[in-house]
Amino acid sequence: MKEQLILLEDLQRHDAKVREVEGQLKALPEKLRAMQADLAKVEAMLARERGELGDSEKWRRDQDVQLKDSEQSIAKAKAKLQQVKGGKDYLAAQREVEAMRKATSDKEEELLKMMELLDAGKARVVTHEADVAALRASVAREEEAIKARLAELEGQVGALRAERDVVAARVRPDVMRRYSATAMKKGLAVVPVRRGGVCGGCNMAIPPQLFNILQRMNSIETCPTCNRIIYVEAIKAEAELERGESKTET
Ligand SMILES: [Zn+2]
Repeated sequence: MKEQLILLEDLQRHDAKVREVEGQLKALPEKLRAMQADLAKVEAMLARERGELGDSEKWRRDQDVQLKDSEQSIAKAKAKLQQVKGGKDYLAAQREVEAMRKATSDKEEELLKMMELLDAGKARVVTHEADVAALRASVAREEEAIKARLAELEGQVGALRAERDVVAARVRPDVMRRYSATAMKKGLAVVPVRRGGVCGGCNMAIPPQLFNILQRMNSIETCPTCNRIIYVEAIKAEAELERGESKTET
């Protein structure tokens, strides 16, 4: 049983390593997805900005055309004015030309303001395009790095699982069942009893009678409070020693 306890302690260590690498394998793609989502968001913002700029430019072109039409109308009206000789008709035609001139100059002023706004808008889009390009490049770099890291971790987790299985194969099936059932519920299934006879899992005192049984190391005992498999510290030292020895062998 002492050997089984040493194995369980070792198995738990292996399981923790496997879980840690599995956690990284899961977290890395999530990190990448979050970055890609951010990129998609700013790309959509840029597309909207470009669309609005395009609409404004179209509006400005339309206004240009209208302005040219107005100028032609003024020219026509002026020509008409020269043909009219005095009287009411002349005054009316003159007023018409004046009104058209005023409307045209208002429109020209409006267009100038619009051009300024458009220039500012274009400059903003250029800046945002550069920002988005930089972010896109950074996401691409991160994606490459994450892919490489994932491949590395896949290899690691494969090796760790194989190592873990070697240890697990030496654990007796009935002991393994108790270990697995507790590990499922509590995470840590095997814990040392600390100085003063306190369970390392739940920090509750172990009855002195049970503590004496533990010292003999010939049975698998559980904490009466948290049900975790408990062992005396000496087991941990022996497990470490065994790992050290197996390392020098290979
Ligand atoms: Zn406990």
